[in-house]
Amino acid sequence: MTTSSWLIANGEDLQAFLFLVLMAVLFIAERFVGFRQSDGNGPRWRTNAVLTVLSLLSMGIVPISFFGAAVWAESTNFGLLNLAKLPVWVLVAGTLLLRGGISTFTHWLNHRIPWLWRIHRVHHLDTEMDVTTTVRFHPLEIPVSALIGIPLVAILGLSPWVLLLYELLDASVTVITHSNLQLPKWIDRWFCYVFVTPSLHRVHHSSFQPETDSNFGAVFPFWDIIFGTFRKATINPQQSMQIGLAELRGPETQRIIALLLSPLRADTSRLAKPVSMPGQPSEDGPTIVEG
Ligand SMILES: [Zn+2]
Repeated sequence: MTTSSWLIANGEDLQAFLFLVLMAVLFIAERFVGFRQSDGNGPRWRTNAVLTVLSLLSMGIVPISFFGAAVWAESTNFGLLNLAKLPVWVLVAGTLLLRGGISTFTHWLNHRIPWLWRIHRVHHLDTEMDVTTTVRFHPLEIPVSALIGIPLVAILGLSPWVLLLYELLDASVTVITHSNLQLPKWIDRWFCYVFVTPSLHRVHHSSFQPETDSNFGAVFPFWDIIFGTFRKATINPQQSMQIGLAELRGPETQRIIALLLSPLRADTSRLAKPVSMPGQPSEDGPTIVEG
C-alpha cells in the first residue's frame, strides 16, 4: 500500500484520533504546567464544549468536502497543479503551501468583512485560551469557510492525499497552538518560522486589535510573513495580557444563545479606529515584549 492510498483509507480516522488524544493529553498538561493563570474556567469550558459539538455537527451542512473537490479536479485534470505531471515533492510542497494559503486567506477575510467577523468573533470572544478554545466556533463558521475554500481547492488543483496530510497537521497544530502551554524559548525562536506555535497564535487572541489582526495562519506562518501580518511580539507580556475582545468581556461572552445570535448583531466598535487598551501603551510608543 502506498502512502497516498493509506492516507486516503485512514486519514479521517487518524485525524479524529490525533485531535482527541492531543486534546486530552494537553488538557491534563495545562493543569500542571499552564502558562497563564486562569481560574473560574467552568462557564468557558461548558460553552466551548457546546460550540465544539455544534461545529462538528455543522460540518455536514456542505455536501462536498475539500477532499471531494480535489478528487473531482484531479479526475478531470482541472486546476493549476493538475495541468502537468509534477514530481511528488512539488505536489506535496505546492499543496501544503497553497492549502495553508487558503486557510490564511479565509481567516483574513473573517477579520476584514463585517458579516464574516460577526461569525468569527465568537472564537475571539473567549476571554482565556486553552485547548477548549480550539473548536469554539459559531456553527456557521466551518460551512462558510468551506464554501470559500472549496472552489479555491479545485481552481488550484490540490492533491487529494496531500490535502489529507494537511488536515492531519491542522488537527494537531491547532490544538497545540490554542493550548495554555509554552514551548521553550530556544525552540520557539526558530520553530515559529516553520510552524505556528502557541506563543505566535496567542498574539492573534490578544484583545489589542493590531495584534488580533495578525498571524492568520493556522499551521504555517509563511503567508503571514509574505504579506506582513506576521507578529512575534506583543505590547504587554503574554502571561498577563488581555485575551479576547476589548469591547465585550462580561458573562455574555459565554452565553450560548447570545453567541449563536452574534451574526445578527451589528458591531460598530469593531469598525471604528483601533484604540489602545486600558493600561496598554498606545501604538505610538509600545513596549514590545517577545512571547
Ligand atoms: Zn481570528
